[in-house]
Amino acid sequence: MRDVIGRGKERCGSVAAAQFTIRCMQPVPATDPETFAERVRIVLVGTQHPGNIGSAARALKTMGLRRLLLVAPERFPDMAADAMAAGAGDVLATAEVHETLAGALADCRLVLGCSARSRRVALDELPPRVAAARLLATASTAPVALVFGRERTGLTNDELQLCHASVHIPANPDYSSLNLAAAVQVMTYELRLALLAGGAAQPAADGDAGARPSPNAVAVASAADHAQLEGFFAQLGDTLDAIDFHKGRSPDSAMRKLRRIFLRCDLDPRELRLLRGILADAQRMARLAGGATGAGGGVL
Ligand code: SAH
Repeated sequence: MRDVIGRGKERCGSVAAAQFTIRCMQPVPATDPETFAERVRIVLVGTQHPGNIGSAARALKTMGLRRLLLVAPERFPDMAADAMAAGAGDVLATAEVHETLAGALADCRLVLGCSARSRRVALDELPPRVAAARLLATASTAPVALVFGRERTGLTNDELQLCHASVHIPANPDYSSLNLAAAVQVMTYELRLALLAGGAAQPAADGDAGARPSPNAVAVASAADHAQLEGFFAQLGDTLDAIDFHKGRSPDSAMRKLRRIFLRCDLDPRELRLLRGILADAQRMARLAGGATGAGGGVL
């Protein structure tokens, strides 16, 4: 078992999603099963029923996956988890337990959050098949994560904000909430289909078709990881405060939109350093201006 903090034993009808699907399909090199198993992480947040953790472990193993990450589970380890895991006790035994979602995602380059309903958050929503193809493409070069929420309340908006996009399984609109482990099974099956298809349908950075290496594969290879991006967003938030961008309004809406813009860009660490340099200068100028007007800012 991996010790982290402790141990335990589409909205698919959307036009934008459809356009994304058509525009982004193109052949790229396949991901091998071992890379797939090691780099694709399934993250369960705040799971309430340990039986669901066991069933999820079984779902992973049947689809050739093994990296199960648990964020603040209510009860784990637990006999109900062991019982439901059946022959997938090894997946439970190596499950990581994390205190925070951000901690669980730190080294991931692509994070997709599964939601039983559409939220009013500024986040792209992908159909499962497109999501699986995108995860597989990125997994050929870096760790990726698929995040699932609590049985009763799903993922919070703040948790979804840590994701690059959301995924919705197009269930009965009048009864769209699958059992947690069932949702894990559907999504891990889509991932397996994408693996077996040899990465035949992958997302690309543009509409360019053809058999040469995907420009997106190159971009993703050097993309910033989750922790680097969150550091940038924290500094962006501080800078907007320092230049009084919000003018008394709540910063949440602007930050959600800005996150969406930057998460679309597949920024690499050098680009992040450039942006952070600009922010640092803006913060410095704000401090100078504060000092000049005596408005409470410090001096350099
Ligand atoms: N009552 C919760 C549903 C929680 S189901 C709510 O309304 O949000 C537990 C988790 O399973 C969800 O957080 C989500 O990650 C996943 N899930 C369930 N149904 C899903 C669906 N139709 N599409 C995508 N994920 C789903």
